[in-house]
Amino acid sequence: MTEPVIVSDPPSAGPVKHEDLKLLQEVILRTPGDPGLEMCIQCGTCGGSCPSASAMDHTPRAIFAMLRAGMREDVMKSNTPWMCVSCYYCTVRCPQEIHITDVMYTLKNMSLESKVGGNSTASDFSKTFISLVENYGRSFEIGLAGFHNVKHFITRLPSMTPMAIGMLTKKGMSPFPPKRIKGMDQLKKILKRAKELEAV
Ligand code: SF4
Ligand code: SF4
Repeated sequence: MTEPVIVSDPPSAGPVKHEDLKLLQEVILRTPGDPGLEMCIQCGTCGGSCPSASAMDHTPRAIFAMLRAGMREDVMKSNTPWMCVSCYYCTVRCPQEIHITDVMYTLKNMSLESKVGGNSTASDFSKTFISLVENYGRSFEIGLAGFHNVKHFITRLPSMTPMAIGMLTKKGMSPFPPKRIKGMDQLKKILKRAKELEAV
């Protein structure tokens, strides 16, 4: 599958110095379960599957190469984890069964802690995602990308048309809001409790 064009070239996945692996190991240890991140073969399937790739400054594959290279600040500044809409396309298609979506959550947490996040709209993207889940009980990928770009990047909308068409056609996503899941009341209670625990 062809990987979309990205703004900056990823680093080479060439020889890795011992000290470079500290960042990779930190991400692995901070991700629940075993994400298998050290098994990445840089095939690019994740970026080619990702509906948000054209809005990311680095594809998931490039981010994983940067982790191996110990490029902490560049990864923390990247908007890639924040543009992830948790659709799991990459995760189900990764030939190495790497838990890519879970790694994106880890990188969001690390970025917030590092306070070097370079994209001021990134955390707003995440808040929009959460509010959609609170409303529908599930993600609404096209709505998420649409709301975010209308709010922050309205001049980019014409150039994003190919991505939107790809989401509707190749990825089979619906342009309409999803149906609310059953058990919304229970989900709301769980989310409320999670927020209370987070505030402790
Ligand atoms: S699909 Fe899996 S193995 Fe391929 S680049 Fe992405 S994370 Fe690495
Ligand atoms: S889970 Fe995130 S990184 Fe993976 S394909 Fe979906 S949007 Fe892209």
